[in-house]
Amino acid sequence: MAVSYSHEPFTNFKEEKQQTSFQKSLDDVNTQLGQHYPLVINGERVETDEKIVSINPANKEEVIGSVSMADKDLAEKAMQAALQAFETWKKQKPEHRANVLFKAAAIIRRRKHEFSGYLVKEAGKPWNEADADTAEAIDFLEYYARQVLKLKDGADVKSRAGESNQYHYIPLGVGIIISPFNFPLAIMAGTAAAAIVTGNTILLKPADATPVVAAKFVEVMEEAGLPNGVLNFIPGNGSEIGDYLVEHPKTRFVSFTGSRAVGCRIYERASKVQPTQKWLKRVIAEMGGKDTVLVDKDADLDAAASAIVYSAFGFSGQKCSAGSRAVIHQDVYDAVVEKAAALARTLTVGNPEDPNTYMGPVIHQASYDKVMSYIEIGKTEGRLLTGGEGDDSKGYFIQPTIFADVDENARLMQEEIFGPVVALCKARDFDHMLEVANNTEYGLTGALLSNNREHIERAREDFHVGNLYFNRGCTGAIVGYQPFGGFNMSGTDSKAGGPDYLVLHMQAKTTSEAY
Ligand code: NAP
Repeated sequence: MAVSYSHEPFTNFKEEKQQTSFQKSLDDVNTQLGQHYPLVINGERVETDEKIVSINPANKEEVIGSVSMADKDLAEKAMQAALQAFETWKKQKPEHRANVLFKAAAIIRRRKHEFSGYLVKEAGKPWNEADADTAEAIDFLEYYARQVLKLKDGADVKSRAGESNQYHYIPLGVGIIISPFNFPLAIMAGTAAAAIVTGNTILLKPADATPVVAAKFVEVMEEAGLPNGVLNFIPGNGSEIGDYLVEHPKTRFVSFTGSRAVGCRIYERASKVQPTQKWLKRVIAEMGGKDTVLVDKDADLDAAASAIVYSAFGFSGQKCSAGSRAVIHQDVYDAVVEKAAALARTLTVGNPEDPNTYMGPVIHQASYDKVMSYIEIGKTEGRLLTGGEGDDSKGYFIQPTIFADVDENARLMQEEIFGPVVALCKARDFDHMLEVANNTEYGLTGALLSNNREHIERAREDFHVGNLYFNRGCTGAIVGYQPFGGFNMSGTDSKAGGPDYLVLHMQAKTTSEAY
């Protein structure tokens, strides 16, 4: 049994030793690029004619690797393998399943910089963001392994004379795990591991843009001793195999993380009971956000500017938790706007392989085009303070962009852009700040910078988001510390990395024996 655990530390890149070691791993990754990764179905490698080619978003010419692509027939084959494997995996002791996760965590920890190197290359993450993604993956594995050990004996229920009652959790069945590009290791590994450790078997479909790091994770799970058929790796077209598997009568649950549009589509399709289907499917859907940083009139203004800028531009604004809008009290509005713009102008944009780069590219052409079109919208909705330029000649680079004086109902204040663009809005007073904070269809993260205790307590009750932070930015939740998930159209509030998460992958069974 593992000893107690807090969380995987972030690498301190100020230390020369760490810099050198990371650079070496990155160099090694550079020599391994271009490899091909087949599907894995029931432990067998399956090659297909059609492939997904993964490219470096900082350098479109560079191929990171390719993966085979599952079609409906292969998705069906994977489903059959998972159904068969479920019959034995569900009977394995939770301790055994937990040990597979502990081992996988140890393997990734040993190869930490290598995994982060792949994240730099495939997702365009700067060093510290890549390092945090890998650390979070390790944390998910460690945390869920420990959690299943807590749940293995069920929960306490009362018994009375002549009667013994028990309450146990049992696995659900075959789950479809569909993950996004933006935490290609942490979210993919976390959602897969939670489903597996609770005794389910899975079909894993990673995002099109980041399949190589997922293929590497699948290798780790095999090395950690996961039996064949428990994790079937089936990259493929989201709308083709995604729809097929979501509608499949043998699918027991879907664990999805991604956009609101795809999440709603899955939720709707999964709800339809298909011929021969014997259960109601469960859907865990963690979706988009339009997250707000609020700045009160008596806040520390430098801290506020820093919270706005780093929440908006970390990983080029491609976090569901990104603070893509700030609402600032009118008394300090001009000062905060100036400080935020000045700070944003100091950020470096470029190749994430360079340790001095703060912000790399956005993920692909479609994302670049979408963000640039929002910048055009922003020019009609607000005052461009800084940024506004993009360059997609080599990779998909966009300058950190701030628009001031944006109306609370403007598109820039309402729609998820998922790029390095933040809208600033002036508020009359604290009531108005809270009103704007709650005026979108989302409810994922938010932050309030304030030194007013009464305002902090009011926000604690009335700022309606799944993850609320005071006197800091709104990104950077840590497994086991800030369980993560959103309200409203941000999803089902599953709280990944929290004490209630694993139960979503199980069903409770009550047994009562009379003597
Ligand atoms: P996305 O476009 O919704 O894709 C997510 C996954 O869904 C991908 O694997 C995608 O496959 C797949 N997919 C597409 N169509 C599908 C269908 N019809 N059926 C089943 N699966 C389908 O999202 P993304 O661009 O990768 O990620 C960014 C989004 O994720 C943002 O909205 C962000 O806020 C959200 N996000 C939320 C959280 C959270 O915890 N709330 C965390 C991270 C990200 P393809 O890649 O093959 O299209």
